[in-house]
Amino acid sequence: MDTATTTIQKVMQLGWEAYEKVRPLPTHVREAVKAIIACRTKALGGHVQGCPDGHFTRHWYNSCKHRLCPQCAYILVERWLRKQKARLLGCDHYHMIFTIPHQLHGIWLHNVKPMTNLLFLTVRDTLFNFMADEKHCGAQPGIISHRWRSGAGWFLAPAKTRHAAALHGGDDQIPGQIARPSGPGN
Ligand SMILES: [Zn+2]
Repeated sequence: MDTATTTIQKVMQLGWEAYEKVRPLPTHVREAVKAIIACRTKALGGHVQGCPDGHFTRHWYNSCKHRLCPQCAYILVERWLRKQKARLLGCDHYHMIFTIPHQLHGIWLHNVKPMTNLLFLTVRDTLFNFMADEKHCGAQPGIISHRWRSGAGWFLAPAKTRHAAALHGGDDQIPGQIARPSGPGN
């Protein structure tokens, strides 16, 4: 095997059949390996790309789009990163995560809505009080707070956390000025 062009797909294509006979693996692992082995090969068929006027065409094998496939995951990760970067605030800020004590999880499950609101208010008051203290900043910061939702996980386990983005500084009632938190580097 040419090590300069060795890929995980090539290793699996060469060794998977023999490996599978001696190592029983869970279904989801076998499905992932089969997707990776078949990715961008004739096993998945292909498609043609071309300009509308017919000057240029090229043939591509289809991709497996499996989230564990190194070839496909790279593109998915890049797309995800671009999307997340577009959501970042265009100024200095802190990302903070607040959650409730483990002992309250039982109560939480039966009172999700009121406790979500309570957690939100607690986050707001904590940040406002902390930043208003002259020892830290002496100003009122801008805050964006939201709960984290992640696909089906939300239905299985309602989020017990609040994410908050607080600006690096705030309004201290002096026109044209932004107060900065005290500490190293400020
Ligand atoms: Zn793939």
